[in-house]
Formats: sequence, C-alpha cells, structure tokens
Amino acid sequence: MIFAPSALSPEEEGLREEVRGFLAGILPADFRPGLGLGGRHDPEFTRALAERGWVGMSIPVEYGGAGASTVRRFVVVEELLAAGAPIAAHWIAERQTAPALLRFGTEEQRRWFLPRIAAGECWFSLGMSEPDAGSDLASVRTTATRVEGGWRVTGTKVWTTNAHLNHFAVVLCRTTPEAEAGDRHAGLSQLIVDLGADGVRVSPIPLIDGEEHVNEVVLDGVFVPDERVLGEVGKGWAQVTAELAHERSGPDRYLSVLGLYRAFLETHGEDVDDTRAAAIGRIGAQMWTIRQLSLAVARSLEQGEAPAVEAALVKDVGTTFEQQVVETLRDAAGGEIDPEGPTMFERLLAECVLNAPTWTLRGGTTEVLRGIAAKALTR
Ligand SMILES: Cc1cc2nc3c(=O)[nH]c(=O)nc-3n(C[C@H](O)[C@H](O)[C@H](O)COP(=O)(O)OP(=O)(O)OC[C@H]3O[C@@H](n4cnc5c(N)ncnc54)[C@H](O)[C@@H]3O)c2cc1C
Repeated sequence: MIFAPSALSPEEEGLREEVRGFLAGILPADFRPGLGLGGRHDPEFTRALAERGWVGMSIPVEYGGAGASTVRRFVVVEELLAAGAPIAAHWIAERQTAPALLRFGTEEQRRWFLPRIAAGECWFSLGMSEPDAGSDLASVRTTATRVEGGWRVTGTKVWTTNAHLNHFAVVLCRTTPEAEAGDRHAGLSQLIVDLGADGVRVSPIPLIDGEEHVNEVVLDGVFVPDERVLGEVGKGWAQVTAELAHERSGPDRYLSVLGLYRAFLETHGEDVDDTRAAAIGRIGAQMWTIRQLSLAVARSLEQGEAPAVEAALVKDVGTTFEQQVVETLRDAAGGEIDPEGPTMFERLLAECVLNAPTWTLRGGTTEVLRGIAAKALTR
C-alpha cells in the first residue's frame, strides 16, 4: 500500500481562492451548510458551477469537460464540501459515472453523456444495493434478459440516492444466471437505465431525520437498448470494483463534519477550557492527516493507477473520524443550549447525530473495508 506524500502547487492553491470567491458570491448569507455529500440537490447551483467549468472537470475537452487533473478537481470538491454547498444533483454523475464512461463506455456513449454531465444537465444514481445484496454485492438478483435490440431488466434496488430526481441509474444486474456463469462474480453487467422509462417505479425510503432522498426502485421489465450497456457484458464485477476507488477516497469521506466543527468554534470558541482546546486541536490534526491520505489517493488516480485498497482505508479512517467528531463536539459543548433558540451549531449537531450512522454504511461498511485491507496485507 502506498500513500505518497503530496502537496498542492501554488497554481492548485490559486484555484482554491477562485472557488472560495465564487461560493461567497452565490451562497446566501444565512446559508445552512449541508453535511458534505449530503448537500442539497439544487439544479441551479449545479448549472452555475458547470458554467465555471467545475462540473466534470476531469472530463477531457473533446467530451465537453475542462480536461483538468484529478487533483485540481480535488481542490474544487474540497471547497464545495467545506462550504456544505448543494452539490447533490451532479455529485454521482461527476464523481463516478464520468470516470466509468471514460474507462469502459463506448465512443457513442461518451459523446452523448459526457458533455451533458459537464454541463450539469445529466444526473445519475447508483443502482447497486438490493434488499438482499449490500455488502455482498455479488448476490444481486436483478436480472437482465436478452431481447431483440437490448435487455429487459427486472428486480428491486434499494437505498438509491436521489433516484426520484436524477435522470439515469447505472444498474448492476445479472445477465447470466449464477449456475451458468460458474463463478458468482461472473455474469454481472452494468446497464444505464433511464429512470423515466416505462416499468420504473421509484418510492421514497424515509430516513430517521425525516428526509426522503433515498429510494426503492422497482424495475419491472424495463427495456434497455444495447447502446446503453456500460462496458462489457459479464464484466460488471470488475467494473464496479474499479469504480469504487473513485467513490471511497475523496474529501466527502472526512469533510461532512467541517461545518459542525466551524460552528462549534463560532459558538464556543470564546470559552475554551482544556477539554475543549484538546478536542479542537485533536480534530484539526486528524482532519489534516486524513486529508493528506486522500490527496495521495487523488495523485495516484491522476497517474492512472487504481488504488482500491488505499481508497477503502481512507473511507474507513475518514468516516470513523467523522463519527468521533460528532461525539467529541457533543461532549465538549457540555449540553449547553442557547436560550434564544437553536444556534447553527445545535442545528447541525442534531442533523449530524441523526445522519452519522449512515456515514460508515454507504459506499461500503467499515467491516467490509477492513476485510479488503486485511486481504491486501496478507496477499
Ligand atoms: C444514506 C445511504 C445512501 C445510500 N445510497 C446508495 C445508493 O445510492 N446506491 C446504492 O446502490 N446503495 C446505496 N446505499 C447502500 C449501501 O451501499 C449499503 O447500505 C451498504 O453497502 C451495506 O449494505 P446493507 O445495508 O445491505 O448491509 P449488510 O450488507 O446487510 O450489512 C449489515 C452489517 O453486517 C456487516 N457485514 C456484512 N458483511 C460482512 C462481512 N463479510 N464481514 C464483516 N461484517 C460484515 C456490515 O458491516 C454491517 O454492519 C446507501 C446507504 C445509505 C445508508
């Protein structure tokens, strides 16, 4: 496992200032930050960002992107997440679908999807998990059956974030029955399903905080034409595994709590005893260290490598850290409640307490990530 030390160049740091200026101009003064990748779904914000060339930045110019490096994208994403900006509309499309299309898509798919993603007009969901397939993703039961000109897809996906708002989902499904494929990781494929197609039914799964951004997606004989198969039929497992390096290692895995941390400093920064000082210092130091690991993975992706194990470790330490921050700051605040109504810190704390358990689940659970790392270490 390699986490090569890396620093940002002056030019990369300059981009940070530009993004900060843009955010200061576009976000209202009373803006309530979202929790990292839990930021709101706001098509207008996404389009404004796209006009600056900051959506799908690493998409090559010939496909409508900015052709920027992974690290330049890292800088922009870091600023967006640090501000809790409303990034949900383009988030999956730009973080995950665009790199997958570049790596596995046909030329026709790249020419159709990538410019639309970069323009902030084409939004994607991930259709991996099912009622009986989460950590053990190879047990997906959604089936695609060959028909003339394409496939008919039937099955149920769950936890599909923003499927009620997005245009497409990349659905992992079985195109060859397990018994025939021999190996349970064989016979899986990725299909790009139009979420507005006949036979798609999307229903919300309400979360404990009352939000309804994850869904059950029932696919009832949905037709997917051949030109919407992503990559090679039967090679879905290898493709999904490669994709997860992009999903797991980014600043979204340690910055969900930055807004809370800042709000704590604003509310309690004047009244710092030893316990609070220790908490503030420890959180800052840990966040910085995890950031260095994440940056190392970004540089490695930039060099065309597939650091799947390193990415799994960044997600493990990042999301575990995020959960600890919530506990630490809750304790450090000492239960003080502002009599004049909830402060920003109190509101964000409540939101974090309700959401924190999901951080170590989505994108692969902590136990599963540690399993991946352990296997790599003992190989
Ligand atoms: C907010 C949120 C958004 C999500 N968005 C999406 C989305 O957009 N698209 C999508 O496809 N999925 C999405 N997911 C699903 C997420 O990827 C799964 O919840 C996750 O992979 C775990 O699967 P599961 O819930 O079925 O739990 P299970 O796999 O049933 O796991 C239950 C428990 O058993 C443990 N466990 C399982 N296997 C092992 C093992 N081999 N060794 C040790 N422990 C193990 C797990 O760590 C966990 O603690 C989302 C989830 C959440 C919470």
